[in-house]
Amino acid sequence: MNCEIICVGTEILLGDIINTNSQYISKSLSEIGLNLLYHTTTGDNPKRLKAAFEEAYERSDIVIATGGLGPTQDDLTKETAAEVMGLEMEVNEEWMKNLEIIFKDRMTPNNLKQADIPKGAKMLYNQNGTAPGVLIENEEKTKAIILLPGPPREMIPMFDECVMPYLMKKSGKTFYSRYYKITNYGESALEHVLLDLFDKQSNPTIATYAKENGILLRVTANADNKEDADVLLQKYEDIIYQRVGDGIFATEDISLSQVVLNLLEEKGMMLAAAESCTGGNIAAAITELPGSSKVFYGSMVTYSNEAKMKVLGVKKETLDQFGAVSEETAREMVQGLAKLSDADISVAVTGISGPEGGSEKKPVGLCYVAVSYQDKVFCEKVTYPTRRRSHQLRMTGYALNMVRQIILEDDK
Ligand code: ATP
Repeated sequence: MNCEIICVGTEILLGDIINTNSQYISKSLSEIGLNLLYHTTTGDNPKRLKAAFEEAYERSDIVIATGGLGPTQDDLTKETAAEVMGLEMEVNEEWMKNLEIIFKDRMTPNNLKQADIPKGAKMLYNQNGTAPGVLIENEEKTKAIILLPGPPREMIPMFDECVMPYLMKKSGKTFYSRYYKITNYGESALEHVLLDLFDKQSNPTIATYAKENGILLRVTANADNKEDADVLLQKYEDIIYQRVGDGIFATEDISLSQVVLNLLEEKGMMLAAAESCTGGNIAAAITELPGSSKVFYGSMVTYSNEAKMKVLGVKKETLDQFGAVSEETAREMVQGLAKLSDADISVAVTGISGPEGGSEKKPVGLCYVAVSYQDKVFCEKVTYPTRRRSHQLRMTGYALNMVRQIILEDDK
């Protein structure tokens, strides 16, 4: 089965953006042993776009295109692919309903166009945007054109969730995958720790995907049946847990905050937070989820020393003697928070996100995370020097993961 990729976007031709979609799709196809024969990049000129599709559809079995699915006049990918396959466009009622929910009375005729897909095609759900993807197979189901939106945050989940399973099935090979969602590691750090498993020729193969809320690790085995695959996958799973088990918070693609929320809900517990360097990111991560009001007391963003003293009761002497970024302060913050909130579990974070404020003894990246649970206070020191925003997000993840681990530890 031969595949090829068409990326639609004048910005790519002008060098304004890097074609990461091509790279992502190529990497994924090679992991499941599919032949990828061509990459084409074209702008939104209708004639050249049509020629690119005609040529690709003629010589390959599967054509995967990204970009040009937006609502504007120059977004012509869907119409062009339909024309090449000899299909009319029709309204997809499911996507139309979705657009009505998204736009309500702000709907314009342009937006309506996004509900049109080629007749008989399968609509691919886009959770992060307003343009659906499309899978169009020919009558004999021997060839297909797959259309995905350009923005990677829309394209990647759709590719992983809809296109990869389709291609795996279509390829005639049998693949079995296990997924691990990981926090506390960046993509390159994770690859480094698992380097020996990243052999393209091996079975299983392993791949990492950097998501907004952690790294998704996919391990895929090619085997005749599930039992054989499980043997291969388990061998890798044991190694993965041994090396990065502390960061694995789920075995599916779910956010850490959702995992924590589910756990709190299941236990009937309330969480409270006191945030210094994370500046409200813990609160944001939890409250963006529906159902958070049942499990989240709230967060105090106690950024200044004064707020730490006034709101949380941190002692002046503690701040003077040990500093705001210290185990002593983190402990007093969480103890004050637990008293004030009466929540079942409390977490406090204090650290130096930088770029200024570091010293030899307390470098940029240093952070203390304290958790108060059932009359016990746990405190961990982490040092993760990076850019300010990454530090805030990483420490948010660290704090939530610590909450998760402490609740689960209690179950043992
Ligand atoms: P939209 O619904 O946002 O209009 P679209 O499907 O029409 O999406 P484009 O308008 O082609 O997509 O691209 C939108 C944005 O997606 C680009 O500005 C760029 O940031 C990103 N993008 C598009 N194609 C690629 C690509 N091949 N690699 C990386 N990023 C891309």
